[in-house]
Amino acid sequence: MSLVNSYAVQNATTPLAPFQINRRTPGPEDVQIDILYCGVCHSDIHQARSEWGPSIYPMVPGHEIVGRVMSVGANVSKFKTGDLVGVGCFVDSCRTCPSCQAGEEQYCDNGMSATYNGYEKDKKTPTYGGYSTQIVVDHNYVLKVSEKLPLHAVAPLLCAGITTYSPLRKWNVKKGDKIGIIGLGGLGHMGVKFGVAMGADVTVLSHSPSKEADAKAMGAHNFLLSKDAGAMKQYAGYFDFLLNTVSAFNDYNEYLNLLKVDGTMVLVGAPPVPVPVSGFSLIGRRRRLAGSLIGGIRETQEMLDFCAEHNIVSEVEVIPISEINEAYERVLKSDVKYRFVIDCASLKQ
Ligand code: NAP
Ligand code: ZN
Ligand code: ZN
Repeated sequence: MSLVNSYAVQNATTPLAPFQINRRTPGPEDVQIDILYCGVCHSDIHQARSEWGPSIYPMVPGHEIVGRVMSVGANVSKFKTGDLVGVGCFVDSCRTCPSCQAGEEQYCDNGMSATYNGYEKDKKTPTYGGYSTQIVVDHNYVLKVSEKLPLHAVAPLLCAGITTYSPLRKWNVKKGDKIGIIGLGGLGHMGVKFGVAMGADVTVLSHSPSKEADAKAMGAHNFLLSKDAGAMKQYAGYFDFLLNTVSAFNDYNEYLNLLKVDGTMVLVGAPPVPVPVSGFSLIGRRRRLAGSLIGGIRETQEMLDFCAEHNIVSEVEVIPISEINEAYERVLKSDVKYRFVIDCASLKQ
């Protein structure tokens, strides 16, 4: 065991504060990682505040982890000391159910081990995330990270990246497709970059007029202010595909109305409140409403390799851990450009 510095919440209402946790002594299958950067996902906030149901406390959030390998166990050949690696939203799964066998461990029938706010495979040892200086993870759940890209801007790929890449691939978004990305935050801005790289005609649907120039600079072809009823009307029946990344209550019916016949809206945003859907939003044009959760290990590696090949990274504001509580408040105000990333060296002081 080694005692390491981290930041934790002790319950749903107190701010993040310094906390020490034990990391296990690396076993034969493990990789011990010196965490260099960790992204701040809106899911960290939802869970720190028990917005999705009761959380496990104390909680050390963080599932967008990049760092360097400090040591590897005797049975690990894929990684060696000094390699750049990443860890995303889960650190284990049953490995035998149909989803695990298919490489879609995020849908494990026996429940994957979330990187934090969850339990190891033994279902009793709590997991602690990346707002920390070190982590020990089974090598099957560790990703290879290219030396080519700026590391601080790679961290958000481990959740925001894979969560947007996976549905674009699953729904076969391709050259010329008219797609809309709803919400330009951490997930949304990665969705824009992937959509553009896949050759789609990309529209950003945002409730923040100030984000138009940034959306265009990221490669979006159009910007639609979702509060502008007239503009929304002009886009009725326009899109093949919509990716909804909004973190708070939003009217799905308004967006479904923008889909063509057979168009699909995929939800990745996870508002803590139920959203009513009218059957008529779907029936009239045989539309579909779907959801998607992060992505499996194989696809996450594919996404990281795609990013290295296409020079895709996240737009980030790097912060020391001491600014984490202010960062949460800014995320809640949709004032993030476009992902906060913690410089984990600040946890060592
Ligand atoms: P984020 O950076 O806060 O982005 C969310 C964006 O939604 C905001 O920037 C804003 O964009 C829009 N928005 C926020 N509040 C709104 C409101 N009241 N009305 C309309 N639009 C609003 O969050 P994120 O980290 O990208 O995460 C987004 C959501 O996805 C969260 O719920 C998170 O938990 C979830 N998530 C899901 C998965 C998954 O696997 N499915 C993975 C990661 C995260 P505009 O200013 O452009 O409107
Ligand atoms: Zn996340
Ligand atoms: Zn499984």
